[in-house]
Amino acid sequence: MKITNKHNVPETLVALASRDYYSKGRADYSVTEIISPPRIQRLRRQHHENMEQDVSDMLWQLLGSALHVVAERGAADNHITEERIIADIGDVKLSGAIDIQRVTDEGIIITDYKFTSAWALRQDKPEWEAQQNIYAWLVEKVKGQKVIGVQICALIRDWSRREASVKADYPQAPIQVLELPLWPLEKTEAYIKERIEAHRMSKVQADWGDELPPCSDDDRWVRETKFAVKREGRKTAIRVFDTQHEADELAEKEKGYVEVRKGEAIRCTGNFCGVAQWCSQYQQSLKEANDE
Ligand code: SF4
Repeated sequence: MKITNKHNVPETLVALASRDYYSKGRADYSVTEIISPPRIQRLRRQHHENMEQDVSDMLWQLLGSALHVVAERGAADNHITEERIIADIGDVKLSGAIDIQRVTDEGIIITDYKFTSAWALRQDKPEWEAQQNIYAWLVEKVKGQKVIGVQICALIRDWSRREASVKADYPQAPIQVLELPLWPLEKTEAYIKERIEAHRMSKVQADWGDELPPCSDDDRWVRETKFAVKREGRKTAIRVFDTQHEADELAEKEKGYVEVRKGEAIRCTGNFCGVAQWCSQYQQSLKEANDE
């Protein structure tokens, strides 16, 4: 991956951005790789040399790396920080680097730092739950130590004191600790094997020149089309619906009109996967949208 510097930021930041903090060591897969969609991972491996990212777009990645260093320095006596654990699953080596393992008399509590937005924090995050449970599995299987809890320490990038004071469902502080469900080990092991198999299959398909498995709507962060009922002279929508029919009904009653807010696959359109330009699934969806 080539790191560009379009805004002439200090070279130190470019050097930091160019370092591979998420190296999976001598393993075949990292935990973050297996939980992400096989299509994305395969395209990234195929086009790694041609991928480009500007250092100015990597602010949160850089701060994430800085946070790991700071957190390591401030670790308490009963904290194990930044430990990389590698497990053999059949002939595959899986590796995970755990931010914090807090050692208690009852067992280990695993915590991972995540930069996120206030909006994202209120959405379901199945990938966080899966990632932390794989870490728990690694600790139990490789280190033979009992894990009693998995958590996320969320650092909210866009936290607003004003929003917190007026909205009950808004995070009440810029740092939140979320307790996640701890899976039975058998469930986690079955999940790990299923994900490794999905990635292995995508490699076989790529080697044979076949079409890669498609990204699902969840993988593509699809935001559904919404129908907003509005009225002339009013800035905000009266109400937003999932269906045109419901919106039409209210618009007639309120003597307003319906604004269609077209849905989109955010991860593709914003190229958050980094490979949109090489992705036949996305290019096909663009073509279909143009033909409509
Ligand atoms: S562009 Fe969309 S469909 Fe293609 S790999 Fe990226 S997220 Fe998946």
